[in-house]
Parts: sequence; structure tokens; C-alpha cells
Amino acid sequence: MPPTKTFQSELSAATAGVANKRSLLLRLVRAEQPITRTDIASRLEIDKSTVTENVKPLIDSGVLREDTLEAKGQGRRPRVISFADSGDYFIGVNLGVRRSQVGVTTLQGEIEEEEDFETPSAVSMALRQTRRHIDEIVRRNKDRRLRMIGVSVPGLTDTNRESLVFAPNLDWRNVAVAKELAVEGVRVVVENDSTAAAMYEARMKIRHSEEGLMTNFILVRSGTGIGVGLVLGSEVYRGSGQTRGIAGEFGHMTIVAGGKQCVCGNRGCWEKYASAAAAASLYLGDRRLRPGETVPRFVEIVAKAENGDNRSRRTLEQIGDYLGIGIANVIMGIGIPRVIISGRLVYGWQFIEQPLREAIDRSIVGKTEGWSVEAGSPAGAAIGGALEVAVEEYLSTV
Ligand SMILES: [Zn+2]
Repeated sequence: MPPTKTFQSELSAATAGVANKRSLLLRLVRAEQPITRTDIASRLEIDKSTVTENVKPLIDSGVLREDTLEAKGQGRRPRVISFADSGDYFIGVNLGVRRSQVGVTTLQGEIEEEEDFETPSAVSMALRQTRRHIDEIVRRNKDRRLRMIGVSVPGLTDTNRESLVFAPNLDWRNVAVAKELAVEGVRVVVENDSTAAAMYEARMKIRHSEEGLMTNFILVRSGTGIGVGLVLGSEVYRGSGQTRGIAGEFGHMTIVAGGKQCVCGNRGCWEKYASAAAAASLYLGDRRLRPGETVPRFVEIVAKAENGDNRSRRTLEQIGDYLGIGIANVIMGIGIPRVIISGRLVYGWQFIEQPLREAIDRSIVGKTEGWSVEAGSPAGAAIGGALEVAVEEYLSTV
């Protein structure tokens, strides 16, 4: 029998040979720039000579630069590393179920521009509109170099990350996204949106914490649907072998037997109860819409709850309960007790958090110590994740 690949073995593979991991060093510089060599050494737990060994060729080739900071008063002026302003830029495209975004970033990290539009339901229209935005950006940036395009999609991708295999909430199948959005000489990488959000949050973790770089967490993205991304040893996990690309499809696990009908054909799926989109149907219950009344959007329900509306508050608490039930299942299945919530749902976090924690507490996970659930950034689930895909892919090639 071939050896079984476990998460643990993936994890130790990911954590092995940190010193050689240029990608980790580049990610750290990107998150913390400008950063001193001493800080790089201590954060990566390698010695300074290894830092120099890794950094020098990157400075020589113009990827990184080293500057001397202006000293305040006397003393040695620290030398700091950051990305060189090469004029390179990256395009990110988030194809969402409801809305889509196209944005631009650089290695310095700022999001320069962003277009937001309603996603056309026909895939050909959606791609044509995206294409127009990309062409426009390329035209406006003639004097700079486009390095990579990252696309996040609400569904499964193929193993080469070039096509969208299936997006259940849009009913799009086998879409050659990379081919359709190609710009001459530039690679297009297509990534599942939860995985993209997980990549984004992994970098945020580097920036905002003192902990080591080897972070493990489960990302639960709740928007129109629910998706799960996994980060093991600071790297996203996409599954292995034939199932590569399918890891994290938890939105369609059944949590209510004989429950609400789902687009996947089954009933009672998690995302019918704990996604931001589920809030509207939980809010309305069996009640029909009154004439002139529209289905409430998630942010409207949050706004009502903030203004003291009980029905809205109860709706968000219900979502928190269902979300917590599912998260406990996911933690039990994967064995990583740290969860970051991403997506539109984060806007209602103040009402969702408590019932979510109580639901986890009732489960067997609650009997263990050290589990944690926190809200991430809504940006990671939108354009931030798509841009992260583009930049990370590029940095793996320098
Ligand atoms: Zn389903």
C-alpha cells in the first residue's frame, strides 16, 4: 500500500527547510517592509548570514532594495530591506456570485484602483466585462510591466489553476478563465475564493503578530455560499492527487436532515443556514414578501440589528449558531483548532460571535482547550485575495 499522505506529513513538509524558503522570506518582507536583516533573521529563526545569502541576489537582481533609515539623534543608522519600486504591477479579479471586482496592486502593497460591478449571470458576459476592465488597466499602465493576473472564483478550479470547473451558485461549468482573460506574455492564475482569502489572511497574520511564521488555520469564507480554505505551515493546502482543488468544499455538508433545498441538489447544506445570503431567508421565515418589499441584503439586516430590531438580531444569532455547529464539525474533521472567518458575514460579527462560540462550546471541540475563532478582513474575500494570488505566484518565480 502506498503511504497515506496526512495533514501532519504535509505540515512537516511545509515547515521543513525554512532557511531555504525564499518565498517565506519574500512574504515576510512584503508584510513588514521596510524590515531590518536582524528582524528577518529572528522572525525566520535563521542566522543573519543566511539572511544575507538569500537577500543579496535579490538586491542584485533589483527585486529588493536596501536603504539606510534616517537616524533620530546619535547611534547607528539601521539598514532596512523592502521591495524595489520596479514599476511592476499586478491585476486581481474577484469573480463573485453577486458582485465582482477588478483591482491593481504593486509589490509595495497598496491597492491602487478598483472597479466593482454586478456579476452578469451569463458567464460569457461576465468574462467580457472583466476583459474590458483588464484591457483598460493595461492601456492606462503602458509604461509599467504587468507581471501576473490572479483570479478568484466561487468554485472548484482545475489542478493547473487555469479553469473554473464548477461554480454551484452561478451554475458555471468548465470555464477556461485563464485563456479568456489572457494578456500577451502574462500568466493568469485561477484560484478558489476561499483559498485566495486564506492566502490574504496568512499574510495579515505575519504582519499583525509576533508569533512565528509557521501558522496553521482554517479559513471559513461566508458570503453567498460557504467555502473553507486551509493554511498549513503558512502555505495553503489544495488537496493532493486526484482531489487536488476540492479540499475545503464544506459549504455543502449536511447540517439539517431534510432541510432547505440547495443548488447542489441536496437538502440542508451548511451554506443554506450559515452564509450571509442565508440571512434573508432566515429573516423572512415562512413569510411572503409584501408588495414592493425586496429581499433584505445582509448589510441591511446588520444595520437593522444595530438599530435595535429584534428580528434582525435573532436572525444573525441563528446564523452564528449554525456557523458554530459547522465550524465545530470542520475542526473535528481537520484537527486544526484555529479558525478565521472571512467574507461579508464579518460585517455582522458583533451579533454572530457569541452564539457561534456557544455552539462550538457545546461540541466536543469545546471540551478541548486552545480553540479560537476570530473575524478576518472583508477585503481578503474580495479583491485582496485575488491580488494576493497574483503576487504570491509571481514571488514564487523570482
Ligand atoms: Zn448544497
